[in-house]
Amino acid sequence: MPEIEPVIAIDGPAAVGKTTVGKLLAQRMGCLFVDTGMMYRAVTARAIEEGMDMEDEDAVTSLAESIDIRIVSDRGADCQRALVDGQDVTGAIRTQSVDRHVSAISSFEGVREAMVDQQRKMALAGGVVMVGRDIGTVVLLDARLKIYLTASPEARAKRRQAELEAQGSGVALEATMKDMERRDRIDSERAHSPMKPALDAILVDTSHLSAAQVVERILDLWRTVN
Ligand code: C5P
Repeated sequence: MPEIEPVIAIDGPAAVGKTTVGKLLAQRMGCLFVDTGMMYRAVTARAIEEGMDMEDEDAVTSLAESIDIRIVSDRGADCQRALVDGQDVTGAIRTQSVDRHVSAISSFEGVREAMVDQQRKMALAGGVVMVGRDIGTVVLLDARLKIYLTASPEARAKRRQAELEAQGSGVALEATMKDMERRDRIDSERAHSPMKPALDAILVDTSHLSAAQVVERILDLWRTVN
């Protein structure tokens, strides 16, 4: 029987471990990893850089439609880079300022359409693990396996805190938690493609699991659907 090219959609709220898990899973399966959050962050970073009014939906949408965003990673590679019109913006997309504005910008319908278009093109070649908020519900409706990761707010805040500390930024746990909750609220209440589990998604609670354990669980699920 021919090997089935994996197409796996992983969604879930902020700091639930999507990126860590998705990256490890893609390495294990030898397929492409696409972190779609990086794309929304890249649009936001460019809008900030251009001094745009973040509430100007038309201007931000035109920007999203006019730029070429690429998430570059070799199959199985550990590190992903975001390129906007060929310029490497990886270092500029995980700032507090981007965290502050990204959910508002991601709620604009035209911005989403432009991103979804590019994301579907990336998945055309098959063999992809794609992570985000609307992958199972909008972007890859036919994904063979859809996972929705959850974790307690405390577990998520601790993970985000550890990430921030590793980057050398000391933000109070309470502030981290507030920002996470604010983004989750905007992401789940927006009119266009709100964050929610697809009807056919399998929920995996990662609160008490390591990233490696979550990957094993998803690999088990992958075997059951094939
Ligand atoms: O995944 P990450 O936290 O980096 O995503 C940043 C933001 O990008 C999210 O809070 C959300 O507003 C937006 N996003 C989205 N749809 C996706 C991925 C990310 O709206 N598929």
